[in-house]
Amino acid sequence: MLVAIRLIFILRTFIFISAEKIFHSRDHSDRFLSKYGFIKAGDGDEPQISAEAAGETDVSLPLDLQEGGSTSGSSSADLQFITALKEFQRVSGLPVSGVFDDATKAAMNKPRCGVPDQDEELDSTKQDTAESNSTSTHNHTDAVNASETQPHERKKRHLAALLKSRKKRDASEWTGYMAFSKSLLKWRLMGEGYSSQLSIDEQKYIFRLAFRMWSEVSPLQFVEDVHSPLEDIDIRLGFGTGRHLGCSQRFDGAGREFAHAWFLGDIHFDDDEHFTVPNMGNGISLLKVAVHEIGHVLGLPHIYRPGSIMQPSYLPQDGGFEIDWMDRKSIQSLYGVCKGHFSTVFDWIRKEQTPYGEVVVRFNTYFMRDGLYWLYENRNNRTRYGDPVAVQVGWHGLPSSGVDAYVHVWNRKTDAVYFFKGVQYWRYDSENDQVFSEDADGRSYPRLISEGFPGVSGPVDTAYYDRRDAHIYFFKGSQVFRFDVRVNRLASSSPQNISEVFPAVVPGNHPVGNLDAAYFSYTHNTVFLLKGAWYWRVVSGRDRRRSASLPLNGLLPRRNVDEQWFDICDVHGSSLRTARR
Ligand SMILES: [Zn+2]
Ligand SMILES: [Zn+2]
Repeated sequence: MLVAIRLIFILRTFIFISAEKIFHSRDHSDRFLSKYGFIKAGDGDEPQISAEAAGETDVSLPLDLQEGGSTSGSSSADLQFITALKEFQRVSGLPVSGVFDDATKAAMNKPRCGVPDQDEELDSTKQDTAESNSTSTHNHTDAVNASETQPHERKKRHLAALLKSRKKRDASEWTGYMAFSKSLLKWRLMGEGYSSQLSIDEQKYIFRLAFRMWSEVSPLQFVEDVHSPLEDIDIRLGFGTGRHLGCSQRFDGAGREFAHAWFLGDIHFDDDEHFTVPNMGNGISLLKVAVHEIGHVLGLPHIYRPGSIMQPSYLPQDGGFEIDWMDRKSIQSLYGVCKGHFSTVFDWIRKEQTPYGEVVVRFNTYFMRDGLYWLYENRNNRTRYGDPVAVQVGWHGLPSSGVDAYVHVWNRKTDAVYFFKGVQYWRYDSENDQVFSEDADGRSYPRLISEGFPGVSGPVDTAYYDRRDAHIYFFKGSQVFRFDVRVNRLASSSPQNISEVFPAVVPGNHPVGNLDAAYFSYTHNTVFLLKGAWYWRVVSGRDRRRSASLPLNGLLPRRNVDEQWFDICDVHGSSLRTARR
């Protein structure tokens, strides 16, 4: 049972069309600063602004501060205003002058999300929890019935909470809430809440993509569920105009509030907005807004940092936006990092001709887990955006359930890629990107491992080819079989125990057997043995030059795979075909 926290996040944008709405004066900026949590009432003070005034009424007050002027700091209200203004300037990356200047005005007038920036609703969390427990079934009908009474209460409480006194808190300290205690979340596009502008397929596609983007960087998985009772649905999305979907927060036509999210999983989009499919170049990208709103539902606050999808300002589409490094770290601080075993890991080497006719060797690192694979970009230290992909999509002709091992025999005489599964193996035709049914030597595939590699019988746990000694290392149980490709037979000493060939540097710190993967890394110029969530790196020549006491092929103490290779995350099977490219 997840903690029932109900907070509304209002995504509200102020556009230039409506001059009255622009924050051009002290009173308007006062209201802005209050609304987004920069001004908080002092201890014992009553909130300065009522919920209704802050939320809906455009109150006109006489100017009491010259635009661009500095304040003399006479009253406590002025001091409070200047402090709040400075805080806003700080998080907005402006010079912290405390002066309400043109740059500050411009920043306030930017389209932005209505979620308060500096708020931790500890008190209201408790209230809302109780409320949620008693009233919230997430049943739409209930919600409609309750809309005339409950939501107003809720909204007042929420806005009052914003103005409530609490200890000063730096916005950057608020890292969010873990909103869900399970990792598989169900979502639904509400039947009564379809967009009138995009096809249902387009809407669902975009939402699937938005959820998938969070899956790619966290242990969370999302699945569309159109059958379960509504109370079992974790995240409900819908479009509406004006009073909509039984929600407390009225939409106000084009240009202002365009979406909002309730912390417990309701996300609403204003159907009067011009939402568009990705890369349209106009309108508001539904994908971008959805990723942002889902971020809120998962518990993330606003993040003031260029490049963050959780920035409060809506920035126009900038091509293929991504959940960047720091946003990844933010969601992972709530839900942890992605962990898991791998079936095989390998560097895929290929020769390429540069535009200058030079032949260069390039490689990419692949991680395979059962029927899925990820391409790991070593230079950027992350997986390719949009991964994982089904093995059979990227590697034509391989078993759909994946492979046990990959070997690339690569020397002056030979350039052959093999995949192993069970008792069989396949040779892969890199040029035509598919398995050979028959290779140039007239051998047909799949073949028995024992036929191609005398002395070795499948299934093997894993294998790799070591260019330095022209041997394939087959791992099986606690043994390693060294196969000399030059003479096509096992080394005379084989098989040996893995712990003999790869002795532990620290006694006892060794995988012993039943490896998941053995990987020769061209980036590190050494071998990694993987088992479960751990890896052991084999001592390299460089290590031994530095420290002569290290044993040949010694295994350094184990480390977490996720400390070396980041964010290799599963996505739900239902979103596998949701490709972004
Ligand atoms: Zn927001
Ligand atoms: Zn709503």
